[in-house]
Amino acid sequence: MKLLNKRAIVTGGTRGIGKAIVKELVQNGCNVVFTYFSSDESARSLENELSNESVKVFGFKADASSFAAADETVKFAIEKLGGVDILVNNAGITKDTLMLRMSESDFDLVINSNLKSVFNYTKAILKTMISQRFGKIVNISSVVGIVGNPGQANYVASKAGVIGLTKSNAKELASRNINVNAVAPGFIETDMTDKMNDQQKEAILSNVPIKRLGKPEDVAKTVLFLCSSDSDYITGQVLTVDGGMVM
Ligand code: NAP
Repeated sequence: MKLLNKRAIVTGGTRGIGKAIVKELVQNGCNVVFTYFSSDESARSLENELSNESVKVFGFKADASSFAAADETVKFAIEKLGGVDILVNNAGITKDTLMLRMSESDFDLVINSNLKSVFNYTKAILKTMISQRFGKIVNISSVVGIVGNPGQANYVASKAGVIGLTKSNAKELASRNINVNAVAPGFIETDMTDKMNDQQKEAILSNVPIKRLGKPEDVAKTVLFLCSSDSDYITGQVLTVDGGMVM
């Protein structure tokens, strides 16, 4: 129970990595408000599965790219949980294609969903965290934000941006006892990577020393570490969870 009675917001909690993060936090005693874009049914079933007498879990429909919706999420979380100690910026999408074919709207959509969303939620939660002189912020980036990837210029730019935002916020907020770190997953088995065919998966695995794709739980356990007091002296870091692919 590393997060007993703590209160968290997790964006994009209905599927994949976000869902595993919600479960990991709840299993460690944390009350959670998770957001989602459209999966109402999954949200209600996750609430029912995880809520019990000692832990509260609420789903909240909110487009992460909307500045106003981030503010509404924070108000909802404070009303339901009494405050917020932890923010995990996980929501993200891909719209992959080569630069030559990439439309302006697909560039903007990915930047707004993956990078501006981190600004939106960090900004919305900051006054609360500063006044309580405590906060843990974990931003989900990607290894491709470190090394680049053809066919993902919009996604890579957003994830590299998340790393820059993480480091600047870590420097600005350390004196307020707020830790800001990023996790950079490699290839993790979720709906996002399900689109790849066997040949693409084989090509990726040939560059993964641990020789398997990651599981959402591999990422969730790292997020738990960065949300807990075990990582109090760590800020501004990017932890790769990628089976050794990038080193
Ligand atoms: P996923 O399975 O596609 O799930 C995405 C989650 O984000 C869903 O809960 C979805 O809600 C939510 N979401 C998407 N756009 C949103 C928006 N605009 N507002 C609110 N919620 C939104 O994705 P994943 O693979 O778990 O990825 C999670 C994060 O890890 C992303 O930031 C991704 O870039 C990053 N990542 C993933 C991998 C990987 O290999 N999978 C690798 C590196 C980094 P709905 O269910 O309502 O659509």
